[in-house]
Amino acid sequence: MIDLRRIVVRLSAAYGADRDSEIRDPFALVLYENIAYLATDDRRRAAFNALRRSIGLTPRKIAAASDAALIAAASQGGVYPELRAARMREAARLVLDEFGGDVAKILREEPKRRRQLLKRFPAIGDPGVDKILLLSRTQPVLALDSNGLRVLTRLGVAQEKKSYAATYRAVQEAAGEFGARDFDLLITANAVLARHGREICKRTAPLCELCVINRSCAYYRTIPKGPTLRRPGQT
Ligand code: SF4
Repeated sequence: MIDLRRIVVRLSAAYGADRDSEIRDPFALVLYENIAYLATDDRRRAAFNALRRSIGLTPRKIAAASDAALIAAASQGGVYPELRAARMREAARLVLDEFGGDVAKILREEPKRRRQLLKRFPAIGDPGVDKILLLSRTQPVLALDSNGLRVLTRLGVAQEKKSYAATYRAVQEAAGEFGARDFDLLITANAVLARHGREICKRTAPLCELCVINRSCAYYRTIPKGPTLRRPGQT
């Protein structure tokens, strides 16, 4: 069994802290998902900060903003800004109309109901729910984006399944008690696995010879080896 704690420690030594993990407010996390589409992290962060500066991040401020202001902020996050502006307004109306403007009420629901309610927000599926629950420190869960999931399947934590959802569940199950009740470790894992997947363990042509965890990787053991470019302390 792969020592996930050791992998995360090694990656966090390579990458350091991640600024996304500083967002803890659940409604702000919904906005963060919707403010950009097919955008780099830097662009998503810039669009989110533009929204924060120009309008604010509360349901009341989003609902009261003009279409033009919402679209202007969403435009910084890539294509279809009108659609994403409408989705942010829809999310705000949901919190105002059904939860009195207090999204924290959703987090106090029992787990199954809480997940159902969070999935009513635009662009929030099970991985998005997990991210909200983790970063808001509501539930210690291994939350993974597509990049982090790819890293863990290539490492050999679990086999890839026919669907993304099935692979996601298989990896979470295989990870078992990793990080149980340890929010800090799980938040770090979410950030560094995502970054490793984006920058090194790319979907096509992963940069395995530069990877600091290649000695622990099942995929790496199956590929022909090129010249060794091992870094000091490589795991
Ligand atoms: S060795 Fe290659 S496939 Fe394995 S985690 Fe590193 S980059 Fe990904």
